[in-house]
Order: sequence, then structure tokens, then C-alpha cells
Amino acid sequence: MSTESKTSPILSGRDSACRTVFLVCGCGNWMHTAGVDERWGERGDYEWVVRAECRRCRRHVGAVGSPEETAPLVDRLTWTDEARHALDRLPPYVQVLVKDETEAFARSRNERVLTFSVLAQARNGGAVAWDPDAEARLERVPAAVRAMARQELERTALEKGEPRVTVGMMQEVKGRYFGMFASRS
Ligand SMILES: [Zn+2]
Repeated sequence: MSTESKTSPILSGRDSACRTVFLVCGCGNWMHTAGVDERWGERGDYEWVVRAECRRCRRHVGAVGSPEETAPLVDRLTWTDEARHALDRLPPYVQVLVKDETEAFARSRNERVLTFSVLAQARNGGAVAWDPDAEARLERVPAAVRAMARQELERTALEKGEPRVTVGMMQEVKGRYFGMFASRS
């Protein structure tokens, strides 16, 4: 076991990686992690929804909070729904390799939750890079949705197998959203 955890600004839950809070069901049985969702709270904060279940009586509970707050509730290596979705969209032969690579990367950092960021970092050997032009343009996106835009663009880069986010990619994502809005009206 490593005694020191490496830090990275976009990795979450690292401080609590060695700590686990165990949940006990009303029936007396231990509860286990059923899943983790990544989401954006009402104020634009990045949050996790940790779901736990009792395997005896099938009761479910959920906890919502920052990664630091909720990571101790996760009792095993768990892919978030978002990271799994990105993984599922890769060609099957690539999926197996990426899955192993990401889990090995997470273990090396004492991470128990495999988020979209962890997946992207494992793929790139670090965070998804940003072209300076693209970074400057992101700064003009309203603060409330900037984090979401950042993740969407990093997801797009990952799905394309591109190591960095470019202005061209931003235009493309914007087009996709405008297309979506147009089809609703
Ligand atoms: Zn129970």
C-alpha cells in the first residue's frame, strides 16, 4: 500500500481514499455500494450521488454531497454511471483495454470511484489538455455552467480519441446543442 496519495486538481475524493464509513441497514445487515452518479447541483457544484443497498432486505439509500463528503461511503471500486456510459461507447475491443487501464490507474492513486475525469486521465496519462484559445473561450462561458461545459468538452475529446480540446471541437459541441434546441421548437 502506498502511504502517500498523489494529488491532481481534477481528481476527487483523494483525501478520503483511505477512509470508509460503513452503512448499516435497519434490518441489521451491512449495506454495500450499488452505484455512483456524477451530477451538477442547483448552484453548479459538482456532486456525487452514492447509492447503497442491503442485499438481504433490498432496501436502498442514497447520499448526495461533494466527492470529499461522499467518497468514504463507497466500499469498493465503482464506475460512475457517466464514466461507464463513456466506456460503453468505445468499440468493444478497446473497452476491455481501457477498463483495465483505468482501474489500474485508479488503484495507483488510491481512488475508489472511477469518474469521467479518472477515465480521461488514465487515457491521456494526465488531464485532457486544452488549447489556449479554447481555454480562453471557456472563460467566457457563464460560471454556473462552465464546469458542465468543461466536462462535456473533455468527454467529446475522449470519445474522439483526441488528446486536447480545441476551438473547432467547441464549435461542434455548440452546434450539437443548438440543433437540439431547434428541434424542440
Ligand atoms: Zn436490510
